[in-house]
Amino acid sequence: MERVYNFSAGPAALPLEVLEQARDELVNWQGCGMSVMEMSHRGKEFMGIAAQAEADLRELMEIPAHYKVLFLQGGASLQFAMVPMNLLRGKASADYLNTGEWSKKAIKEAKKFCAVNIVASSEDRNFSYAPSQEQWQLDPNAAYLHYTPNETIGGVEIFWTPDTGAVPLVADMSSNILSRPIDVTRYGLIYAGAQKNIGPAGLTIVIVREDLLGQPLAGTPTMLDYKTHADNDSMYNTPPTFAIYMAGLVFKWLKRRGGLKAMEEYNIAKAKVLYDYLDSTDFYHCPTARENRSRMNVPFTLRDPSLDEAFLKGAKEHGLVQLKGHRSVGGMRASIYNAMPIEGVKALVEYMKAFEKQHG
Ligand code: PMP
Repeated sequence: MERVYNFSAGPAALPLEVLEQARDELVNWQGCGMSVMEMSHRGKEFMGIAAQAEADLRELMEIPAHYKVLFLQGGASLQFAMVPMNLLRGKASADYLNTGEWSKKAIKEAKKFCAVNIVASSEDRNFSYAPSQEQWQLDPNAAYLHYTPNETIGGVEIFWTPDTGAVPLVADMSSNILSRPIDVTRYGLIYAGAQKNIGPAGLTIVIVREDLLGQPLAGTPTMLDYKTHADNDSMYNTPPTFAIYMAGLVFKWLKRRGGLKAMEEYNIAKAKVLYDYLDSTDFYHCPTARENRSRMNVPFTLRDPSLDEAFLKGAKEHGLVQLKGHRSVGGMRASIYNAMPIEGVKALVEYMKAFEKQHG
């Protein structure tokens, strides 16, 4: 069977090379006589796999030694709670930027633990842009500032790094981690669910500056204290071993591709193919502000929404799947993470052109 071009927002397409390697190694990993899924997480084989994955991620993202890399579970959604539980550190409030559905979820959860100061919101224009930093009302006493540099549903990406002075910057990078280089030293904490640009679901990566650890809220469960995992190399309990192995294969693949700078160039070129076409027609419409157009998630609508079903059906027949927009916003969304080849984006645009010709 042919593989399709999968535009899912997550779990998302993985590089074919990675899947093939995993298949080849599935029942007998490198001659050890068992699958990675069957290994003790404390055995030397798996310890090696985890250490290599961490080393490769550190190299790709240039993560300095005073940052811990944690391999956790619970999804990015659990980080909505773990961040305030661990980073309030005696303070009563935190700053949040509100740029869409994922920001809103993070804010809602944080409100269970502290006062939340919304530094700015783009709700006034239906979350189609990100307010510039001049518009933010920062609280110098905030425990941290949380933002979502790529809103997966709205397709709004922030390409600059906020300046929060001494207030630790926290980013939910679930849907744009590894898509371009970032300066980790500007952040106190970065988190991301794996199922978009890292690997399969079930793994959440946290990158945290060491000095922020060790002052959780009273009553924080052991498993929700970052320090538990930092002190135990993410092996306090059984980690998601197979997902870590798969992430490690993705990191190796990224290194073979030339690292994050090369991925950024590729992702710019890919996104341009689609946005250029969207700009050239009024049959389709892209709602996001130009300077915030995500390179990872491209939402668009058809001028005539009664054609949505036919569009999706025809796309599927062309091997282009998972294009339906999020249930909260409707329309279409093409997620074009690292693993989506430019050929997939070109095939989508060809299909969109033909569909326009037929129905326009
Ligand atoms: N944040 C962002 C930006 C996301 O895109 C998602 C998932 N789509 C989440 C958080 C929630 O992630 P999870 O399902 O891993 O909890």
